[in-house]
Amino acid sequence: MTIASTDPATGRTWQTYDALRPEEVERRLARAAAAWETYRTTSLERRAAWLLAAARLLEERAGELAALAAREMGKPVSAGRAEVLKCARASRYYAANAARMLEPVPADAAAVGASEAYVRYEPLGPVLAVMPWNYPFWQVVRFAAPALMAGNVVLLKHASNVPACALALEEVFRAAGFPEAAFQTLLIGSRAVEEVVRDRRVAAVTLTGSEGAGRAVAAAAGRAIKKTVLELGGSDPFVVMPSADVGEAARVAAASRFQNAGQSCIAAKRFIVHRDCHGEFTRAFREHAEALTPGDPMREDTALGPLATRRALDDLQALVDDAAAKGARVLCGGKPGPGPGWYYPPTVIDGVTEEMRLWSEEAFGPVAAVIEVAGLDEAIEVANATDLGLSSNAWTGSQEEAGRLVAELRAGAVFVNGMSASYPELPFGGVKDSGYGRELSDLGLREFCNAKTVWKG
Ligand code: NAP
Repeated sequence: MTIASTDPATGRTWQTYDALRPEEVERRLARAAAAWETYRTTSLERRAAWLLAAARLLEERAGELAALAAREMGKPVSAGRAEVLKCARASRYYAANAARMLEPVPADAAAVGASEAYVRYEPLGPVLAVMPWNYPFWQVVRFAAPALMAGNVVLLKHASNVPACALALEEVFRAAGFPEAAFQTLLIGSRAVEEVVRDRRVAAVTLTGSEGAGRAVAAAAGRAIKKTVLELGGSDPFVVMPSADVGEAARVAAASRFQNAGQSCIAAKRFIVHRDCHGEFTRAFREHAEALTPGDPMREDTALGPLATRRALDDLQALVDDAAAKGARVLCGGKPGPGPGWYYPPTVIDGVTEEMRLWSEEAFGPVAAVIEVAGLDEAIEVANATDLGLSSNAWTGSQEEAGRLVAELRAGAVFVNGMSASYPELPFGGVKDSGYGRELSDLGLREFCNAKTVWKG
């Protein structure tokens, strides 16, 4: 894939970049390793001050960064600004809380025959972050803020369609005062990743993206015996029981499914609805869907932009056509906009069954699969009938149903009567083919730490 900025609203490429030559990658790896040797000894106060400066810069530059995202991956500017402000909030959170999270944890010294025993958290070194384009700022910052506070340095290999966002982030961290090589962007294609993973100066790897990329990068890291965190795809279930506030469930269903033009890993994707509220839910869901019209991402009043790439649009259409050919009912949408640009309308497909690809595959665009079920047991069975397990949603007014859904949905998170979202305060990550490891909260910060056991006689 060429490294280029292409406007999804027009399909026109407005900037291309040369990938770094191997000697330039080598120079950056050497700088990262050298920078880490001093950065790891900086005080937590110093790191927090730099991270707070980064938060302020993100706040000041939110408009300009949002415009970059709009022109590279089609996110409407209002959503882009909100994303950048969320990055600032996470940075402030880690600046305020990392010291507490990194405090040594005392152990029962007497039980292990020591005078003193504890665990101390030390940084690992340069960490390679392979990142996707869908939240071009947030995906990076949610990893980088805790990693930098823990004393690691960051090498960012961003998706090849968002190079301007990647370079802008590097500039934010540099301008905030972090040592120059504490955060470096590597403009390289995916084929050059394995060699970086193998490099002995790279201590660990985090990847957010597709299952295929996760398998490739984790395999390379495995061969090199390096820690990985994988944040992969999701096909999150959204279970609606008749005891729920069905109108509210339909409103949130639309907000969740159609956010970021449907290109969100934790968007609800499979709507598993009890037959006693199926009619009411589907009617309201469709109304919310039809109220959203795709528009120019540079306009303030646009809520739904184009898809990021032509390929995303073709992949999505293939899923819709497959379901329609096998007898599903397309309640609205179902065909791309006239163009130019990769616009796709909110699409609701009812009657999705096991033989359709939409049943088990992730739809990475504004397409909702509705599945009618006869009861809670069936709802749970259908919800779990996927190899993915990122987040999940349970809509119910019954404590008993909620208890079962919380316990039995196989996913990295369950949100009851609310929308799946990421918060700095809560861990984020999946099970099954959605990946492993956690980002955010104290767990995310400790993923890239050496939990060193200290035993004193
Ligand atoms: P992708 O193709 O996997 O790209 C993600 C990153 O991985 C890019 O930087 C890409 O580089 C790189 N990459 C791709 N193949 C690679 C390989 N074989 N070796 C090394 N690097 C490789 O992802 P996408 O399809 O654009 O993004 C959508 C997917 O990401 C969806 O499945 C979505 O659910 C998932 N996602 C998950 C989360 C989460 O937190 N769990 C968040 C967002 C998105 P190039 O661009 O150069 O190819």
